[in-house]
Amino acid sequence: FMLLTKKLIEVRNVLKSIDHNDTLKLPSIVVIGSQSSGKSSVLEAIVGHEFLPKGSNMVTRRPIELTLIHTPHSKEEYGEFPSLGLGKVHDFKRVQQTLKDLNMAVPESECVSPKPIELRIYSPNVPDLTLIDLPGYIQITSKNQPISLKEKISELCEKYIQEPNIILAVCAADVDLANSEALRSSRKVDPLGLRTVGVITKMDLVEPDRGVAILRNQDYPLHLGYIGVVCKAPSVASKDNMTQAVMKVEDAYFRSAYQFSQRGVAVGTGTLRRKLMDILEENMGSNLGSIVKAVQKELDETRYQFKVEYNDQKMSAESYVAESVDKLKHRFKDFSKAFGKPQVRQEIRHMLEQRMLDICAQRYWSDPRLSELSQLDSSPTAEEDRLYWDLQLEWASSALTKSGVGRQTTQRVVDILTKTMEHLSEAEPFNHHPEAAETIKVMTHEILSSRSQATADQVENTIKPYKYEVECTDGEWTEGVKRAITLVQTELEMCEDALAKIKTTVGTKKLRKAINYVIASDREEAKRAERREAVAKLREASPQSYLEDRSSESSDSAGDQEHQEDADHELREHHGEDEDELEAAIRPHFNPKLLNKAREALSLRDRALILKYRLSALKSKTCKSSKNKTQCPEAFLAVVAEKLAYTSVMFIQVELMNEFVFQLPRMIDSRLGVKIGQEAMEKFARENPLVGKHLELMDKRIKLEEVWEKLNYLVRRQEEAKARKW
Ligand code: GDP
Repeated sequence: FMLLTKKLIEVRNVLKSIDHNDTLKLPSIVVIGSQSSGKSSVLEAIVGHEFLPKGSNMVTRRPIELTLIHTPHSKEEYGEFPSLGLGKVHDFKRVQQTLKDLNMAVPESECVSPKPIELRIYSPNVPDLTLIDLPGYIQITSKNQPISLKEKISELCEKYIQEPNIILAVCAADVDLANSEALRSSRKVDPLGLRTVGVITKMDLVEPDRGVAILRNQDYPLHLGYIGVVCKAPSVASKDNMTQAVMKVEDAYFRSAYQFSQRGVAVGTGTLRRKLMDILEENMGSNLGSIVKAVQKELDETRYQFKVEYNDQKMSAESYVAESVDKLKHRFKDFSKAFGKPQVRQEIRHMLEQRMLDICAQRYWSDPRLSELSQLDSSPTAEEDRLYWDLQLEWASSALTKSGVGRQTTQRVVDILTKTMEHLSEAEPFNHHPEAAETIKVMTHEILSSRSQATADQVENTIKPYKYEVECTDGEWTEGVKRAITLVQTELEMCEDALAKIKTTVGTKKLRKAINYVIASDREEAKRAERREAVAKLREASPQSYLEDRSSESSDSAGDQEHQEDADHELREHHGEDEDELEAAIRPHFNPKLLNKAREALSLRDRALILKYRLSALKSKTCKSSKNKTQCPEAFLAVVAEKLAYTSVMFIQVELMNEFVFQLPRMIDSRLGVKIGQEAMEKFARENPLVGKHLELMDKRIKLEEVWEKLNYLVRRQEEAKARKW
């Protein structure tokens, strides 16, 4: 009994969750009536609880879609707001407050909103029904309500009382039915009253004869008829069975007058409930065919779409999560294979060699005494020179070993790992998942920062001996020389490339001219400095005599100044040149940018010269033996760099790399993998729009198939019932 309604309500809720279009509409009971007609009282009597917001200030501003779910095997009674996620609400006072809050959230300026509030009530005492409570019709517009409010409410109600919905038109017995807004509206859409039930409330307020006359109603006949009720909540209502309490009062009232027991007079909330269930069941039954058709159509379309768009390929949040994590782990594995010990060593070596080149440039290649270096042995004043260059080498070596190798080499590897993981976290599919990408970065940081200090300390500790002495075998030396040659060679090539680039951008001729000018003006500058020095010396040697013969002409200080300048000028003239004029003659031809380029080219040329010179030194017989390391600093530093690299990497590999490669995949599993739980996986999967669409369509298909099963079962039952009747 009443199975159809129950099942179809279930179907309705499933269909609702898949965002179906309106073709799958199932009939609901829509409650309309004027304000204070007793609408809320009737609904509460049906539900058995006081749960609707009350008050004089337009408390129903949004439609309330009320689904009653009969739960015969459970004593539990509770409400649920599916879109709020509050869970089960057992306290009906809280249901009432929530409804009130939701209604009051509609701004005063709007007054009513068409957006429905969904509420489900589960109870063993309610029938399976879907009811929609609408804002009451208002008669007069009060002074702080806009004129259009009346129309707004009428429009909202009109939208809901369309087919296939059943209309519950609530009218108070003490108000002339001719004035009933509810009846007037329902007649517009359902003139014969084929789907309209009249509910006459406040039957206790009129004489029984008059009451019965209203129910018999000749003036406004409804096919489904009228039912009279007395829904005045008893003053001391016991909360749990309000329906019973109301019905007791009601029964007593209707029994008190013989008129109500006449044939064709329907009275009582109990009768109303039964009638509503019957009507809904029947209505659902007659709608079943069209519902089945609509579901069938939707299902066919969904299946087709699923086939065309996804080739029937199944998809789940879990499989997507697993796949994404696998991808990440695979990529990481590929990286860790490609970035093994040799690659780490190369990185570190490269870093140390760059430092070594910097030291050479600073300490050797710009030393004006550099040319002495290769003649160190043959030079007669060897002793002092030797000491100088030995100290240079010592300084250079310790500049390399004491430069914070532990921290810097570790940091280098940390940087590479961080960059790589950042890169992986931005690649497909994690580009769709900013939170997960952030998690990848956080995990990387966690592991690395927990290891890097210890690693750096370990490295620093083990390279400590090199800070005092670096011994090297013949084999190591030979290797060092080779490496030094390569490095200097590369440096030379870079130098020459840069020079060539300047030549092509500026033009050879133009550059040559600019260079000549720079050389000339530098030479001038040097001369000028020389002269200034000479003058200063002169002045120092005989300040008196220098000024004496001029002091008679003027004695103030400004004059003195002038005289000095004159003297300078004279001195200049003596040399037969005037530099101001010289500069003025040449400068206009060159712009400062060009001159800068020329200077750059000049310094590159000098640099290349020095590097070539060092290259031939490194290739000479002297550098064949490690005994001559003083003369071959590049080779010796290359040996030191190699030793530092080798030792550093040994510890970085053990303390940092291995640990990272071991820990990261485990962390990925626990923080991003399927262990994160169903809800988190759903959220993750839907972040990817393509996957989200796929999942949605699949979800839709599954739900429609489920609904289809249910409907089929109902159709079979209906046919069986028909067969039995015959
Ligand atoms: P609504 O505005 O249409 O929801 O009307 P309410 O349900 O809030 O009822 C308006 C007033 O009428 C309230 O004070 C109720 O107590 C009262 N009322 C409702 N039903 C009856 C009834 O059957 N008999 C009497 N005497 N009063 C009723």
